Amino acid sequence: MNLILLGFPGSGKGTQAKAISGRLGLVHISTGDIFREEISRKSPLGLEVSGYISSGKLVPDLVVLKLVRSRIATETKGLLFDGFPRTVEQAQGLDDFFATREQRVDAVLFLHVEENEVVKRLAARRSCAKCGKIYNTITAPPARENVCDVCQGGLILRNDDMPEVIKQRLMVYKDLTEPLLAYYRGNGIFHEIKGDSSPDAITENALAVLKTWSK
Ligand code: ADP
Ligand code: ZN
Repeated sequence: MNLILLGFPGSGKGTQAKAISGRLGLVHISTGDIFREEISRKSPLGLEVSGYISSGKLVPDLVVLKLVRSRIATETKGLLFDGFPRTVEQAQGLDDFFATREQRVDAVLFLHVEENEVVKRLAARRSCAKCGKIYNTITAPPARENVCDVCQGGLILRNDDMPEVIKQRLMVYKDLTEPLLAYYRGNGIFHEIKGDSSPDAITENALAVLKTWSK
């Protein structure tokens, strides 16, 4: 099974992707996480993409598609994509690639959260610099301010969660990523779930939707 999670930046995709992939035994592929890792390693790819990311723009489709293809070329398990595809061109690229392997996208889950809620969440988001665990200073704070509960690492505000960059990311989402909903909606694999309940409740809803699908 190959699954795609869609939603505004800050809709909780990353959190749900980790939970759902764990429960279903899927390989979690977050293009955002891969890019951030490349940036922190200062690899050639990291250097190539860091300007786009820190200014809230999308990394060019060809770069993203090349990365994803090489990342999944040797995977034999089911995949869960988080933060990819982000444009219709990326979605077509993925479909074409799957077609060469007689595979397909089996389900698309759209996590629905209102825009004003997303803006609040992104500004309150902190992530552990060491293990990547995500916190929210208002709804899910760590036990000790700015210290990760799991690994004691320091918590950071992502560069691209600065207010001006958040605005830019939301504009880009509406322009380039929202058209994906229509791309997938027509073909019976599209499911919308509400993203405004607790993380655990959302995971259960998602699994329930996918179970119906898999029968
Ligand atoms: P969020 O979903 O919170 O915006 P991500 O971690 O998915 O965060 O992405 C962070 C940034 O990485 C994006 O704003 C974009 O610049 C870049 N990026 C990640 N995935 C893609 C993609 N599929 N296509 C283009 N750019 C991407
Ligand atoms: Zn940590």
